[in-house]
Amino acid sequence: MSQRDDFKRTIVYGDTALAYLKKNELPAYPRNYELWYTYSAGFNYSLNKAVNDILGKKGGITPDEVQNVYNRFLCPNRLSDRIDSVGSRLSEEIGEVLEIFSAGLSANSKYAEALGGVTKALEHATTREQFSEIISTIVAATNETVSHNRKLEEQLYESNQQISGLQESLEAIRFESLTDELTTLANRRHFDEAITRAVRQAGDVNEPLSLLLTDIDHFKQFNDNYGHQTGDQVLRLVGLSVKQNVKAQDIACRYGGEEFAVILPRSSMEQAYSVAEHIRKSVICKELVKRSTGENLGRITISIGVASFRPGDTPNGIIGRADAALYSAKRAGRNLVKCERDLDIEAAVA
Ligand code: GH3
Ligand code: MG
Ligand code: MG
Repeated sequence: MSQRDDFKRTIVYGDTALAYLKKNELPAYPRNYELWYTYSAGFNYSLNKAVNDILGKKGGITPDEVQNVYNRFLCPNRLSDRIDSVGSRLSEEIGEVLEIFSAGLSANSKYAEALGGVTKALEHATTREQFSEIISTIVAATNETVSHNRKLEEQLYESNQQISGLQESLEAIRFESLTDELTTLANRRHFDEAITRAVRQAGDVNEPLSLLLTDIDHFKQFNDNYGHQTGDQVLRLVGLSVKQNVKAQDIACRYGGEEFAVILPRSSMEQAYSVAEHIRKSVICKELVKRSTGENLGRITISIGVASFRPGDTPNGIIGRADAALYSAKRAGRNLVKCERDLDIEAAVA
């Protein structure tokens, strides 16, 4: 949880990842390393299951299979591929719209030319037949232009529809890139952007800002007892409890595997503490029952750390203090909310 803990934990994951690479005789390309690091850390259950299935069947894994698993569960290009495809379709549509406009311009200039010719002919026309011919020319040119413009209008309408569709796709991609798939809360990327913005805003306008960091208690044990899939359902449930207890202005995120964060703009530490208590109580209140079998899984609890903005604060500063408060809640027995000021009191007592 502290930087020191992070260091120790991640080095262990890294060493284990390298050991897997060596054992399977795979080159330590960043992609391969990323896959085995994720596998060692165990926070992507579907990836671990896919790898375990392959290892279980064949005792080893080939570079192609690794690539395949990477593409299915990690591929950082997946979203950018889709953005590329929307981008190129958008640029095609823009090309078509430009063509429609240039066709429209040329049709209208042809019409202007035809009218110019008619004006000249009018100057010399004296007989009824000549006037009648001129009128026929005007009617024909007008009809042609009207029908041409109608066709262009239809094409323009079609392109407009396509562009609106692409705009929606881009919006969906953006939403997806900021949303956690399992819980539908904001994801870590969204959190990183949002906390940076919130800290800047709190400093600029001198408003309070608080942050909650939440971690499920003994969740490893829960997974070991009931399986990861049931664990995932519980993560959804905790995510829901977090979401239901915060206001629209607050940003609830899945911070990591079984860790959640809530950014509370314009909220003092007391207000944030009260929100945290509501979340904690709403989680412990729920009796977990496995829907498929009716099995009673008991209750789970969460621990929460609360920190509030201080002048000159940085995102890492406030996150670090919330994390320290969370750690203190764990040490004090779990199923607790601790604020950063509790740490000051603990330190003073010590
Ligand atoms: P405590 O936090 O109370 O100290 O104990 P813990 O057992 O919860 O601690 P730790 O943070 O070490 O373990 C987190 C566990 O959460 C590891 C993993 O089994 C589980 N976990 C993490 N991410 C996921 C996930 O996406 N799905 C499921 N089902 N479990 C996850
Ligand atoms: Mg944890
Ligand atoms: Mg935990």
